[in-house]
Amino acid sequence: MRRDTNDEAAAATAELTYPFASPPTPGHAMSVATGVMWLRMPLPLAGLNHINVWALEDSAGWALADTGMQTADTASYWQQAFAGALERRPVTRVICTHMHPDHIGMAGWLTRQFDCRLWTTRLEYLTCRVLVADTGREAPPDGLRFYHAAGWDEEALAAYKARFGGFGKAVYTLPDSYRRIVDGEELSIGGRLWRAVIGRGHSPEHLCLHCPELHVLISGDQVLPRITSNVSVFPTEPEANPLEEWLESLAAIRRRVPDEVLVLPSHNEPFRGLHARLAALIDGHEQRLVQMHGELAAPKRAVDVFGVGG
Ligand SMILES: [Zn+2]
Repeated sequence: MRRDTNDEAAAATAELTYPFASPPTPGHAMSVATGVMWLRMPLPLAGLNHINVWALEDSAGWALADTGMQTADTASYWQQAFAGALERRPVTRVICTHMHPDHIGMAGWLTRQFDCRLWTTRLEYLTCRVLVADTGREAPPDGLRFYHAAGWDEEALAAYKARFGGFGKAVYTLPDSYRRIVDGEELSIGGRLWRAVIGRGHSPEHLCLHCPELHVLISGDQVLPRITSNVSVFPTEPEANPLEEWLESLAAIRRRVPDEVLVLPSHNEPFRGLHARLAALIDGHEQRLVQMHGELAAPKRAVDVFGVGG
């Protein structure tokens, strides 16, 4: 969920259009397509103060896409929305794009409130269970070795130790079972077909949902218009290459989802211009890789190349 801005990414927004003048306030909802409501939940994070979540008209109520972080505020805004904009209709299922706490944090609370299922991909569900299980544990030697080798100083290592095991605090106890969604699967929600498009690199098996009939893509954190998604190597898999997975995923979305869709991202505002945004994200990373390659004639630690191209 951590993100940072970069200059190329910010420049790309010039080609995008944003059809809605302002977002809904928390606890309220705004229709953005037939049967698709936009809600916003606050986030208690430095630098990122909101997440967008979506309510899709389903046969007997609402299918929710993402849920907000576990906080008392999020619960009360959901209650306000159910009593008002969502017309006291029940939640039929809770779909999560991925396992970060701002997306899945309230899934356990919502599924219990409405006695419904959590729908997500297998790696998002299982990885979330693993990270939640780390809650309260001390930072492991593997993690300290990994960040030390990357060049982190004592202060940064102390911050890692203090932060380790905090993931579960922002996630309401997950349901003990879930409904798996696989890449390419077609879900019928309220009689409309939504196709699952899986991406990798920001999280292990990130779900996007494309509705060809409505020309809408729920993009999660896989495509954001004004900020760039965090793509990181973590100590649990030091040899991972998430940037390669990320770039492959963006290219796959460009092949599989037409440019004309209205994109519903988890942060910032709904926008048009999917292919321009994908191209800008891919080009921005490729330029940085070329610059980085130029800097690596002599071996360097990870921290020594953080500023390259910045
Ligand atoms: Zn995320």
